[in-house]
Amino acid sequence: MKTNKILEVLDYYFPNPQCELNYHTDYELLMAIVLSAQSTDKRVNQVTSILFQKYPSLEALKVANRGDLEEIIHPVGSFRKKAEYIQEIARILCEKYQGIVPQDREELIQFPGVGRKTSNVFLSEYYHYPAIGVDTHVERVSKRLGLAYSKDDVLTVERKLMKKFPKEKWATLHLQLVLFGRYHCKAMKPECKNCLLLDICHEKKKNL
Ligand code: SF4
Repeated sequence: MKTNKILEVLDYYFPNPQCELNYHTDYELLMAIVLSAQSTDKRVNQVTSILFQKYPSLEALKVANRGDLEEIIHPVGSFRKKAEYIQEIARILCEKYQGIVPQDREELIQFPGVGRKTSNVFLSEYYHYPAIGVDTHVERVSKRLGLAYSKDDVLTVERKLMKKFPKEKWATLHLQLVLFGRYHCKAMKPECKNCLLLDICHEKKKNL
């Protein structure tokens, strides 16, 4: 079966996949994911190492000078919006959740800058919940492998993946698809010649 082959190959390429965002606490992870929109994990890690050192608590982030936050966050893009999100998330967590990020997706998506993908990535990484965050890599790879149609939106891709793969694999599958898309099945110049999924890939002819 095609899905079994995909799981087999992904396990071979990435037997122990890890999230590449650095974090120490639940809120650091949530904020790092929010900052990662339209940016790279590498850049986010550079920014958060400064941000969380200078403002080492939610209280400190809540009362931080907005201009200072914007300056620190600047390299990840959309810095005004993201600085506002970070400060609002800190405020809501302090005032409504005793500083603990909720485990409930419906509550999470009420936070500014947090949508379905961000909440899925957070829940699967921090609480090991079965969820598939469909980011740009997961979407691209899923479509190339014929797991979804090119016209499908991200929610449809997520639903198709959940239907095709067993629930206990979702969290790991998300990480593996991200890493596969980031280092192997890249947006530009994917490594098709050496790809172990070449025989089942819908895009191979375009890239060989
Ligand atoms: Fe990606 Fe190429 Fe492999 Fe297809 S054959 S999955 S496009 S790297």
